Amino acid sequence: MGKKGRVFSGARPTGRQHLGNYLGAIKNYVALQDDYECIYCVVDLHALTTLTDTERLKQNTYDMVLDWLAAGMDPKRSIIFVQSHVPQVTELHIILSMVTPMGWLTRLPTFKEKVRQQPDNVNYGLLGYPVLMAADITLYKANVVPVGEDQAPHLEFTREIVRRFNRRFGPVLVEPQMKLTEFPRVMGTDGVNKMSKSLNNHIELAATPEEILERVMTMVTDPARQYRTDPGHPEICNVFALHKFFCSDPEAIPQIERDCREAKIGCVEHKKWFAKDLADYFAPFRARRAELATDPNYVWDILADGAERARVIAQQTITEVKQSVGLP
Ligand code: SF4
Repeated sequence: MGKKGRVFSGARPTGRQHLGNYLGAIKNYVALQDDYECIYCVVDLHALTTLTDTERLKQNTYDMVLDWLAAGMDPKRSIIFVQSHVPQVTELHIILSMVTPMGWLTRLPTFKEKVRQQPDNVNYGLLGYPVLMAADITLYKANVVPVGEDQAPHLEFTREIVRRFNRRFGPVLVEPQMKLTEFPRVMGTDGVNKMSKSLNNHIELAATPEEILERVMTMVTDPARQYRTDPGHPEICNVFALHKFFCSDPEAIPQIERDCREAKIGCVEHKKWFAKDLADYFAPFRARRAELATDPNYVWDILADGAERARVIAQQTITEVKQSVGLP
């Protein structure tokens, strides 16, 4: 293990990525590669706990990983793979389930929330989800897991399982440390909900400049600003919030803020500016994505190589786990 330690993070295969995915995960994934040995996993088995239609699972995996690679996640420095391609995770899942009290799982607020969301599909996998997550992390002996504050209880759950397992069978598993990361809450084009594909309030990273402009022009701004002459409130405007991340000239931001308050800039003018900066920001991404997509096997080759490297670590851990548990 080199650098500052080994990072593990997983993401469900959600297809083409949007600004929320970029600011909430991908940007951080790329940056972590400088200081950590990173393992990034497409958690397709986790996706099965909520999906009823799996038709697009393969395509969504391809599209998401293509975006990851185009955005700078580097398969030479990081291991990028698909969860189900390393079956040792399911072995570890079942072994860890033996040290997980049922009460821990049924009491979890996330489980209760899922039961509310999908009362007709309360499957066993949904209940065991946190155990599978613990298996994901511990199989690779990751000692650092980046999480937002809202996900901290999930990681604490993994740490509890590790402590319980190690107390009973010996110090085999690594207790991961939480790397609390501030993930901006990215709102959608409607300005009220979190950016999400299902709400169709998202802007894709791979969108063309024309598509970006079209989406940005529909964005809800300060609702109190009915006329161009009305003073605005940039602190409640999502165009302003997002422009801060993508502005080609960050020094222009304080000026926009003043101009908005004094009604010296109109929303249409500002949106066009933001759309142009957004399109320029992602121009290298679009070019790289188009280049990588010319070889339809590229993504699958990267994932096959990643799985091979992940399996080496996984096999070592599962062998140690089985020995410590006393399996013949
Ligand atoms: S001028 Fe810009 S910051 Fe102000 S309300 Fe309009 S879009 Fe938002």
